[in-house]
Amino acid sequence: MYLGDYIVIERQTGPFEFEACCVSTGTGFIARVVPDKQHLFEDRTFTDGHPRACPFLRPVCDGRIVCTIHDTRPYQCRAFHCTTMLVYSPDGTLKGKVNGSLAITAHDPVLRELWNMNLGAIPFSSPDIEQRMRDLLTSNGYRVE
Ligand code: SF4
Repeated sequence: MYLGDYIVIERQTGPFEFEACCVSTGTGFIARVVPDKQHLFEDRTFTDGHPRACPFLRPVCDGRIVCTIHDTRPYQCRAFHCTTMLVYSPDGTLKGKVNGSLAITAHDPVLRELWNMNLGAIPFSSPDIEQRMRDLLTSNGYRVE
């Protein structure tokens, strides 16, 4: 939400392609808006209302805010992993990680299904969605940090 000072568009090179730059490192990169996000990218309402946000960020209808150039995002963004929850089994084995977008990475298919099925039943804009998901995991025997 505040990376607009650091990730800037320098030149448009195609309908959905841009020369862009990470200002902090002076690193240029070619940004291509992924096909299924192009309709989102075309709507500038969010960008106009949030001038300090990364120019490639856009909201989706369920309340999430997504990167529209995910496949060509710069190194700094690829290297950044925001983990908001670590999920452990009762014996203390790490079973999964949840990121800031509430996406889970888990090798355990039971945990993955439990998470994804229940997450889909809660509107993403619910202010207590993270706590409800934590409670769900706890009530199913997982420990959450
Ligand atoms: S991940 Fe995408 S939207 Fe987020 S700062 Fe990087 S380029 Fe911008």
